Amino acid sequence: MTPRIPPVQLFIDGQWRNAGDGRRLRVIDPSTEALIAEVADAGVQDGLDAVAAASRAAPAFARLPARERAEMLRRCFELMIRDKEYLAQLISFENGKSLSDARGEVAYAAEFFRWFSEEAVRLNGQLGTAPGGANRIMVQYQPIGVSVLVTPWNFPAAMATRKIAPALAAGCTCVLKPAAETPLTAFAMAELMAEAGVPDGVVNVVTTSEPGPVIDAMLADPRVRKLSFTGSTQVGRTLLRSAAGQVISCSMELGGNAPFLVFDDADIDAAIEGAMVAKMRNGGEACTAANRFYVQRGIYAGFAARLAERMGAIQVGNGLDPATGCGPLITPKAVNKVSDLVDDAVARGARVLAGGTRPGRGGYFYMPTVLADVPRDARLLGEEIFGPVAPLVVFDTEAEAIALANDTEYGLVAYVYTRDMARGLRVSMQIESGMVALNRGLVSDPAAPFGGVKQSGLGREGAHEGILEFSEAKYIATNW
Ligand code: NAD
Repeated sequence: MTPRIPPVQLFIDGQWRNAGDGRRLRVIDPSTEALIAEVADAGVQDGLDAVAAASRAAPAFARLPARERAEMLRRCFELMIRDKEYLAQLISFENGKSLSDARGEVAYAAEFFRWFSEEAVRLNGQLGTAPGGANRIMVQYQPIGVSVLVTPWNFPAAMATRKIAPALAAGCTCVLKPAAETPLTAFAMAELMAEAGVPDGVVNVVTTSEPGPVIDAMLADPRVRKLSFTGSTQVGRTLLRSAAGQVISCSMELGGNAPFLVFDDADIDAAIEGAMVAKMRNGGEACTAANRFYVQRGIYAGFAARLAERMGAIQVGNGLDPATGCGPLITPKAVNKVSDLVDDAVARGARVLAGGTRPGRGGYFYMPTVLADVPRDARLLGEEIFGPVAPLVVFDTEAEAIALANDTEYGLVAYVYTRDMARGLRVSMQIESGMVALNRGLVSDPAAPFGGVKQSGLGREGAHEGILEFSEAKYIATNW
């Protein structure tokens, strides 16, 4: 059974409407390659109409008492929980991920509404005195202004709520530009937010097959004051350049290349469980996905054999089938990329312990794969694989493991397994990443600051930091 399809038009100023020139884009089921829906395909003027709507709605929304915005966000949380099974099926249908992953995403996505409903009423300023005694320093936070939110296809609900919830909590209005591959979840969320009482124009949703010109036009509009982007580092760099024109504040959640370190003294059962989560959540299509496994020599062979057994046992299939452990990738291009990376590693001498092929069926599938003895010059150690492939490399010393982990332009997250907590904390502090999972396979939590260093991004989402990204500190110097 397939889920109900939400409205498939642009959502601007509380109205569903077609693209100005009537164009539509196709949404494809990656499990079957069948057409799911044709949705409105916005042009530049539609994007600017959405900015205008957000701008008109901004003053009244910013004046609302924080408690009212908080209760609106709380209702969004409750409606997401009410509709969790529907939303999970819709995510699974258009993205391909397994239903259990999709259910996990809905729960995670809903939590951002709950968390920021609580933060909305705790955005307190500060009062101090200048060290020289000249004046009082009074600081209050104000909404940063109209925000453009650009999200990827891999977590179509959670990447949207991780931006919308703090934006609204801070008192900002916004335009959401979801990925063209997964617009239906965004439309379903727009329906839900309208039901929760979010006023017209506060959240607008614009889908387009031409994100470059549409987003450039929005970023060139002086009414826009904020860009919050989640996606690849390559597109992030382009958008940073566009945002420079109007000196727009940017929060960037970009690509990752997470190392997964397992020391000889690790709890191997826990490390295998953690590896399965860190690698296979979302079928490997996650910015946080473990991309490189570095395993100390004493346990290397045993770890490799057990990981290969677990990966080889995963059932690959249609995301909506409850028996599926790993769904398809998002597009044929994604399958080709994963396949090329595996072939390159094998050509350089890596050994295939599991998978390494496409299954002989329709849909955009690739088999869960484990590669051992991957040479250090293999391309997949330097690039995001974004698929169900675990490359293993052996190491000898702690210093070598840290150097290998840091040998990348990315710095989003790292995983470390050791029973020696002193070593765990020492290594965690030396790894160049915004986040470390120490003896865990998962870091994401709405209450924690999520984000990267180096070319993995700028700023943090979630936690208290998340609302500050959508706020400006207003300083008033005074005496009394
Ligand atoms: P992408 O960069 O191709 O696309 C992201 C968004 O940008 C989409 O909405 C897309 O339509 C839009 N876009 C694409 N080209 C554009 C252009 N020229 N101008 C303006 N907008 C453009 O990324 P993707 O393939 O959708 O997602 C996968 C990437 O996202 C991976 O690199 C992954 O690591 C990253 N990601 C990061 C995080 C994080 O929190 N750091 C979370 C999820 C995904």
